Amino acid sequence: MALTYELIKECKQSGARLGKIHTKRGVIETPIFMPVGTQATVKTMTPEELIEIESQIILSNTYHLYLRPGHHLIDRAGGLHKFMNWNKPILTDSGGFQVFSLGDLRKISEEGVEFRSHLDGSKHFISPEKAIEIQTSLGSDIMMVFDECAPYPADETYVKNSLERTTRWAIRCKEAHKNFENQSLFGIIQGGMYPNLRKQSAEALIELDFPGYAVGGLSVGEPKPLMYEVLEHTTPLMPKNKPRYLMGVGSPDCLLEGVIRGIDMFDCVLPTRIARNGTAMTSQGKVVIKNAKHTEDFQGLDPECSCNTCKNYSKAYLRHLFKSNEVLGLRLLSYHNLYFLLQLMKNIREAIHEDRLLDYRDNFFEKYGYNA
Ligand SMILES: [Zn+2]
Repeated sequence: MALTYELIKECKQSGARLGKIHTKRGVIETPIFMPVGTQATVKTMTPEELIEIESQIILSNTYHLYLRPGHHLIDRAGGLHKFMNWNKPILTDSGGFQVFSLGDLRKISEEGVEFRSHLDGSKHFISPEKAIEIQTSLGSDIMMVFDECAPYPADETYVKNSLERTTRWAIRCKEAHKNFENQSLFGIIQGGMYPNLRKQSAEALIELDFPGYAVGGLSVGEPKPLMYEVLEHTTPLMPKNKPRYLMGVGSPDCLLEGVIRGIDMFDCVLPTRIARNGTAMTSQGKVVIKNAKHTEDFQGLDPECSCNTCKNYSKAYLRHLFKSNEVLGLRLLSYHNLYFLLQLMKNIREAIHEDRLLDYRDNFFEKYGYNA
């Protein structure tokens, strides 16, 4: 087995779990947030900096790397780890989410999805087998099955047909996956906002005995309370002895609420994307660095953060960098936002360990500006 999950402790206050994912490239302490390196790079961050802020695992995108530079090239480079100089674990998505997001540029059939590249309009076809072939070439530690993430809102018949096809595709992915020694393949539970369909999807996939399971099809535009409701219904259906991954979620409130409902892994482009737009996540809530009130604010971004950005640079300086379109501004804010989320997850792990996660959440929200 390329991966095993060790459940260390269940929180007495909530459904949260403290655990360890053992992989050939090291141990991942959970719950964890995974920075996203779409194009074999976490935007503006060097792998050395990712290590410095204690990233344990990163995510990369199959669709983007397949189109450019191509999975065969990455294979010839010695795999994605070597290509991008990252020796810790990597999770790759299956490409399904991007392909289905292409709208008019794609055509779905039982066999797979035909689509046109967003880069040059060239025609491509990804099937479950192809998604596994690409991820095998990339050499990621955790691969994902090729699935359809149903849009929101979507009617029950559409979601049911979609999840049943996703289940058939999961079987094909499992059959195509041969590199068990080094790579693990996770299943993805779909079913939209319908509890009965979530149950149907979970049961069918658990039968296939994947070493880990993701909850897909959430954070797609539904209100947050609905997402929490679906999670509350779905995580109890998932095996206790395997990691649980909520895809595409990365705001501090959703991370906390997800962990409370038994999720172990998260990923999202949010922290780096908003950083490049000049927004920082801080212990006192969001800071929009370009605001005029920071013009002569010579304090650090977040008084409670001890990252290099907060230790060494003032808000006035960061604002100046953004106003002058200097790339260092993007780097310093991306660094801080990722550090902030990784630190949040570390604090969450400590709070679970000490059975005080709900108190931690309430205190966090009081300062950050959310209602608990
Ligand atoms: Zn900081």
